[in-house]
Amino acid sequence: MSSTATQPHAKAAETALMRAAVVHDFKQPLEIEEVPRPIAGSGEVIVEVEASGLCHTDIHAAHGDWPVKPSPPFTPGHEGVGKVVELGAGVTEVARGDRVAMPWLGYACGTCDYCLSGWETLCPEQKNMGYSMDGGFADYARAYGRYVVRVPDGVHPFDAAPLTCAGVTTYKAVKVAGTRSSDLVAVFGVGGLGHLAIQYALIAGGRVVAVDLVNQKLEMARELGAEYTVNASEQDPAAAIQKLGGADQAIALAVSPKAFEQAYASLRRGGTLVLVALPHDNHIQLPIFETVLNGITVVGSIVGTRLDLREVFELHAAGKTSVIRETRPLSEVNQAIADVESGSVPARIVFRP
Ligand code: NAD
Ligand code: ZN
Ligand code: ZN
Repeated sequence: MSSTATQPHAKAAETALMRAAVVHDFKQPLEIEEVPRPIAGSGEVIVEVEASGLCHTDIHAAHGDWPVKPSPPFTPGHEGVGKVVELGAGVTEVARGDRVAMPWLGYACGTCDYCLSGWETLCPEQKNMGYSMDGGFADYARAYGRYVVRVPDGVHPFDAAPLTCAGVTTYKAVKVAGTRSSDLVAVFGVGGLGHLAIQYALIAGGRVVAVDLVNQKLEMARELGAEYTVNASEQDPAAAIQKLGGADQAIALAVSPKAFEQAYASLRRGGTLVLVALPHDNHIQLPIFETVLNGITVVGSIVGTRLDLREVFELHAAGKTSVIRETRPLSEVNQAIADVESGSVPARIVFRP
């Protein structure tokens, strides 16, 4: 190897280490370990992570729950927020020192029909943070300058993290649902996503009925403005919601196929079921006859675009939403996963690296 003026610097950067939570095996806990600190390639940035939310999707990723699996070893996390500390060649979208969010949509091609029509979230060439790219459960993360989203001043990084997936996903789901003033919106699952879905449904002018299995979460739902709550472990939520006249839209956020079927059965004629949660058990059964005669719409909704996320941050900066979150050190990632799975976390856990 020839010795050039840039070599000593490059070598130092290559050997710099950082801490990350790494999945090595779908059946094993994550390992907190030292890994090489990433270096920005062309179009890429390095972000020093300040906050990183734990989405249930990270748990599905770590367990290999879905038909399309990530390839271990990998670092989960798609609610990472932090400051840009390094710019790769050609990055013009952000500057060093900017606070940015690194959402699930880590990269899209920018030129396909979907990208061009405002549906970049459907881009077949997309890469996903914490799944096909290493994510935010680390001291530093590498992201594409074009696909990070600037966090406005006045939005705390611990709030920005849950908004980066739970926020943008439910904001988009309410848009897809088409909620209009006075619509009754049934929110099934009041976790990280659900606690924000309630707020976006209210912002759209809807009235909310919230469904969960845990009374504490239903209490939180009422505090956030849900007019009705139903504990699905005590009564049939579909029957309870039909007594209210039926839901105009039902948003399925609970990690349970049964909850999707109940959400469907809670709809009034002309209603819309929005599928959002992604349980390991991948199938539900819906009746054809009732769907046709009642004119029901069933639609899937996947995260949201960079523009949706900007809107989510704007709403938060304007004081229109509140994020319920608990911060923990990243070293407690495995306990945090167990707590989310047992339903004992009020809404979102946010890691501090
Ligand atoms: P979470 O664990 O924080 O919340 C799930 C909630 O559902 C909990 O409050 C739980 O008590 C409740 N629940 C469980 N079973 C229920 C049942 N039978 N009836 C009613 N409530 C029930 O999870 P989260 O982070 O909010 O994510 C929810 C799901 O959404 C996950 O499957 C995740 O992968 C998926 N997700 C999808 C997208 C997307 O773009 N479509 C984006 C983010 C997350
Ligand atoms: Zn997520
Ligand atoms: Zn594309």
